[in-house]
Amino acid sequence: MNLENVKNRNQSEVLRLLNNNGPMSRKDIAGAVGLTAASVTLMCTELLEKNIIVELGEVPGEKRAGRKKILVDINNDYKKALCIAIETDKTYITITDMKGGIKARSVLETEKKETPEDFLKDVSDAAGRLLWDNDISRDMLLGAGVTVPGKVDAKKGTSLGAYNIWERPIEIGDIISEDLGVEVTVENNLKAAAQLEILFGLGRKNKNLFLLKWGPGVGSAIILDRKVYDGSNNAAGEIGHTTLGKDGRLCKCGRRGCLETYISTHAILDDVALMLGDSTMYKKDLSLLGDEKVRGLMDEKMDRLAQTLRNAVSLIDSDRVVVLGYIFEVDGMLDRFKNIYRTYDSTSPEDFIVASELGSKSAHIEPLALLMNNFLSYR
Ligand SMILES: [Zn+2]
Repeated sequence: MNLENVKNRNQSEVLRLLNNNGPMSRKDIAGAVGLTAASVTLMCTELLEKNIIVELGEVPGEKRAGRKKILVDINNDYKKALCIAIETDKTYITITDMKGGIKARSVLETEKKETPEDFLKDVSDAAGRLLWDNDISRDMLLGAGVTVPGKVDAKKGTSLGAYNIWERPIEIGDIISEDLGVEVTVENNLKAAAQLEILFGLGRKNKNLFLLKWGPGVGSAIILDRKVYDGSNNAAGEIGHTTLGKDGRLCKCGRRGCLETYISTHAILDDVALMLGDSTMYKKDLSLLGDEKVRGLMDEKMDRLAQTLRNAVSLIDSDRVVVLGYIFEVDGMLDRFKNIYRTYDSTSPEDFIVASELGSKSAHIEPLALLMNNFLSYR
């Protein structure tokens, strides 16, 4: 390891610390990362010159005895992030600052075009327009991040297939990077959500987390020791394909009896139709799943999910479960789920299951995590 590497590694460590803790004094930074005050001061001078950090003035409330204690923090406006979240129904293009503050957004339908490449061309065009309209040049960007459901080869920037969007491998990274002229990072949407949770959410305080997303499918991501666990085939955390019985319904993965075949939005609407004779209203307005009429049905679905979740977190020994996805956002649903979960584990703390603040339906800024991770890694 050469000196330049050591310097970059120290810088990366300091920036990660600031990202986790918020504003700190040079002295406290030195204490936290085990460097001398002099070397931290030198590093901060360099980072200030590059505009990567900013000084925030004195520590609030501190008496003016002795030397002033100036806080430094990551400069929120150092660069902007171009976030492209491709989801089954819509694609969200968002420009954020370094901390996820939303500067501009445009939304387009995730349409079945002639080819997926045609659709991605539309996405690039819309992103280019958004940058242009907001006077953001390429050099003001950290890069572009793209998230998509399904398996992703992150190293190659390739989606290996996104159910209901495209069925074959698509080289998203190359296509968008060629169109926009910026570096593009691609990742599965749930893994990116987990990375976002590590950088800006509960992951700052908890080492081991379980992320659970419900709607339209059911998926999860596992955070172990502050890292997203991939598994051998990039398939860790596929809670939707844990089995509830070998004679169950056929799943899109080719197996039978997967959790997803019981509790995906699709499966729920099928069962609502069986029970009420019609599920059109429910399909149009998913918040109706909070209805009295389907209460028993939904409780039964949540019971299956709760049991599976209980088994999963007992293997991993998670600190917390972070839930996201639109079914949990239906009025009252999360509280009901927490109560059902407690029937499987009455010893779990009151706040064991919490809603993600970052992954709510209004956010769609998961790609920011990919770009911040690139930025915070030392090269
Ligand atoms: Zn399956």
